[in-house]
Amino acid sequence: MKRSLEQRLGTTIQQADDRAVYDALLAYTKERLEKVPAIKGEKKVYYISAEFLIGKLLSNNLINLGIRNEAAGLLKQNGKNLEEIEEYEPEPSLGNGGLGRLAACFLDSIATLGLPGDGIGLNYHMGLFRQVFENRRQKETPNPWLEENSWLTDTGIRFQVQFKNFSLTSKLYDIDIAGYDSGKNKLHLFDVEGLDEGIISEGISFDKKDIEKNLTLFLYPDDSDREGHLLRIYQQYFMVSSGAQLILKELEEQGRDLRKMYDYAVIQINDTHPSMIIPELIRLLTQRGIAFDEAAEIVSRTCAYTNHTILAEALEKWPVSYLEEAVPYLMPIIRRLDEKIKELYSDEQTAIIDKENRVHMANMDIHYGFSVNGVAALHTEILKSSELKQFYAVYPEKFNNKTNGITFRRWLMHCNSRLSAYITELIGEGWKKDASKLERLMKYTEDIQVLEKLHQIKAENKRNLKRYLKETQGLEVCEKSIFDIQVKRLHEYKRQQMNALYAIYKYLEIKGGKKPKRPITMIFGAKAAPAYTIAKDIIHLILCLQELIQRDSEVNPYLNVIMAENYNVTLAEYLIPACDISEQISLASKEASGTGNMKFMLNGAVTLGTEDGANVEIHELVGDENIYVFGKSSKEVIDLYESGGYRAVDYYICDEQIRTLINFIISPQMLKIGDTYQLLRLHAELIQKDWFMTLLDLKEYIAVKNHAYEEYEDEKAWSRKMLVNIAKAGYFSSDRTIAEYNKDIWRL
Ligand SMILES: *Cc1c(COP(=O)(O)O)cnc(C)c1O
Repeated sequence: MKRSLEQRLGTTIQQADDRAVYDALLAYTKERLEKVPAIKGEKKVYYISAEFLIGKLLSNNLINLGIRNEAAGLLKQNGKNLEEIEEYEPEPSLGNGGLGRLAACFLDSIATLGLPGDGIGLNYHMGLFRQVFENRRQKETPNPWLEENSWLTDTGIRFQVQFKNFSLTSKLYDIDIAGYDSGKNKLHLFDVEGLDEGIISEGISFDKKDIEKNLTLFLYPDDSDREGHLLRIYQQYFMVSSGAQLILKELEEQGRDLRKMYDYAVIQINDTHPSMIIPELIRLLTQRGIAFDEAAEIVSRTCAYTNHTILAEALEKWPVSYLEEAVPYLMPIIRRLDEKIKELYSDEQTAIIDKENRVHMANMDIHYGFSVNGVAALHTEILKSSELKQFYAVYPEKFNNKTNGITFRRWLMHCNSRLSAYITELIGEGWKKDASKLERLMKYTEDIQVLEKLHQIKAENKRNLKRYLKETQGLEVCEKSIFDIQVKRLHEYKRQQMNALYAIYKYLEIKGGKKPKRPITMIFGAKAAPAYTIAKDIIHLILCLQELIQRDSEVNPYLNVIMAENYNVTLAEYLIPACDISEQISLASKEASGTGNMKFMLNGAVTLGTEDGANVEIHELVGDENIYVFGKSSKEVIDLYESGGYRAVDYYICDEQIRTLINFIISPQMLKIGDTYQLLRLHAELIQKDWFMTLLDLKEYIAVKNHAYEEYEDEKAWSRKMLVNIAKAGYFSSDRTIAEYNKDIWRL
């Protein structure tokens, strides 16, 4: 390694600057990846997704190639530090949040298990926007990640994608995905020829109508208007048409009979964004001489659909007129598919094209796919019993659950090398390939030395985070305080606003003279969709609280509220290992699974959460002693929506404490710091609407969180909770999830 790096550098590692060392290490690692044998097999899965939130790749690749220690050691000997070298890698943020991160974890696990499986997606030039705070508000700026040297390889493969009045050339780039101690697969990312980054004007705005120049410019453009929706359809069709052409090309090159495509390929459709691959494949098969009905049958036996949400606004329904404008020759196929369904089932709710002439993408997936899966046990049950119950009645055999998972290579071995090494010291290396072996840690629940060491590791990770936040964002945190962290996309259903109301509660309590035993650090991190007004108001609220508390020397020795800027995978890798309390407080029934909850658990944080998504499974695994659960159940919440029984204003009027906390948002102190209009708007929203029921669980949340803070003071008991959480986290390895996908759906 040394010789190879120095050859590239043209000097010694010691003398080269960090940037050059990064470039050399990237080139070296890429070359090593090229030599890893491709995973082969009769049948292959194509995981198609509009998002792959892969994060930085250097360290993960070094781990999976088995050369990370060698690289770290070599750098150290030469006065360099791998963590600092990694700072030079731009993060490819090709996803919004959990859904995109899941796709990335899955690719790692598919390769690690030695299964043939490639990702198919888009090569956005700008990942999810970079968030900067200005005047206590979120501002979006472009987030480019492509550099001269990157992980991408141009394959030279080109496809044509035909739209209504023009056709675009699709260029295929690949990223090698090496499994841990295994062979490799590919992530295929398509890019449009003729893209023009020069059309970006102010911030992240650009001419949305200039499709030929903008198609892969941005991940998910702001789609609050017609132009945004149309661009989204153009992106989706570009992705699925390129992907379908690639799949057929591979099958034809192998001499496969396309009439038996399902014997050689399975396509996993990640949420509804890639749904148009169904009509597109049918179109391409009929072009090759296969009759329509047979083509539809072949495609149905090849495609499987994953549902990620029950939020109605997130299930895509495209107006027929939009599809006619963007992809006109797909519409006749979609109409025929719809007619076939309408002949079979009269129920309006299962139609593909509804009475208002909108195409329900999920409905098409369910009728013309062979599998429908939810992403956590509770979520799948809700799909079967309420959201998709009309479908479950006709296709019970299609429904199955695949509880999400995370790759332990990134979310433990990479981000928490201290804990990772200590686990290995206690139970050996076996857990790295078989995560269920973490259970062996359970024999140490009464071992004082082990418990103390876990506490020490957490303390070191806290110091590491403290240093990182100081250096990168100028934020100060007290390492002796309890770290209470909520990081995830900003959405009302995730209820960051409830956590902010707790901060107000604590602030007022301290002002009233009741000081906590130990200082508290509440950390938030969240991006809001650019057009999501209330989410931006919530960010504003938190930033105002941060400032209020920082200015108040009566409070700031005891309470610190900070909103870290630009939450992304890299920041997550620092925050999660340092966390004591993991906030997973969504309104029950609304968070399909969550994966942040799993990352925190694996790193020894204790969950404070509702019985929602995979929290339910975490609770079952760790037991009542090792989690803090509160709030109304999903059934109660679903009933409340049906009956219209929740009225925020009733809580506001009847409960003095709630009224005090809400009114603090528009108190003179707050109005002095923040924007009157925004704070008033949020205040009114919480009283008059509060669609995601913040006030429903607020009192219980305050009580349970206070209880958790008290229990934190028993250091040994807390360390035991940490240990149990780590030991029981094996179930949430994405290796387990992928093994289940393969056994029940893919059959590779
Ligand atoms: C894991 C992850 C998410 C998903 O977090 P949830 O708490 O499950 O919503 C979002 N963003 C990033 C950067 C992540 O790493």
